[in-house]
Amino acid sequence: MPFFDVHAHLTHHKLMPHLPEILERAKAANVTSIICNGLNLNDNEHNLELAKNHSAIKPALGFYPVDVVLTEMQALGIEYHRDPGEFTHSVEETLAWLKQHAPQAFAIGEIGLDGYWVPESLWQKQENVFCELLQIAKDNDKAVIIHTRKREKRAYEILLEMQMPRINWHCFGGKTKLAGQAADQGHYFSIPANARRSETFTRMIQKLPRDRLLLETDCPYLGPDKDQDNEPANVARTAQYFAELWNTDIGEIEQQLTKNFERLFLTSP
Ligand SMILES: [Zn+2]
Repeated sequence: MPFFDVHAHLTHHKLMPHLPEILERAKAANVTSIICNGLNLNDNEHNLELAKNHSAIKPALGFYPVDVVLTEMQALGIEYHRDPGEFTHSVEETLAWLKQHAPQAFAIGEIGLDGYWVPESLWQKQENVFCELLQIAKDNDKAVIIHTRKREKRAYEILLEMQMPRINWHCFGGKTKLAGQAADQGHYFSIPANARRSETFTRMIQKLPRDRLLLETDCPYLGPDKDQDNEPANVARTAQYFAELWNTDIGEIEQQLTKNFERLFLTSP
């Protein structure tokens, strides 16, 4: 049985130079699918390119909620780090590109709402684009990978309003009670590799229905070791933590998580 990393950023400048070794270590840890999440048009193109050359890499095409309003944020003098040349297309261009390329996507993500970096005056615009992205996913029968920060409840309302059928919440930072409600609606939650040192993720592993959980890294961020870049191989360590918390053997964890992965990403509802 294989493992899956449903949220990686292998295009990140910290990881790209080491890609061959990172993929080797993932293979050795039996991580057979790595969903690389796109942040903007350039990053999406990069992910598609990587997927062409590496069968383990599955490209999710997305539009990071901060990037959606990045031009306006910069005009307001708000600093948000993007390398030069990393973000160069307008919202309209990006949406048109996504409509055209969505059939090639393994999933649509990451997309969502961010109220941590983004000021309230830009929330409405962010929401409008989020709804358009959800519609693209729906039209193409793709699962969505959701990023939210400080706006979990509003994102949840929108997902219900739009009757989205296939949802994964990545690195969920909202209340466990809300996660429970969403899980009852059939939503999935991917647990990052820093779970062992996070009370919130530990509680989610213990409390949420076992058939709604997945593994992710969000690499190069959120690693199990604070001072080391994260990478897909580390999902195997989180699986070990699941086994301890569920008091079961690793084989059962692999089986459960494989079923969850296939149900969400590979089965049309
Ligand atoms: Zn991400």
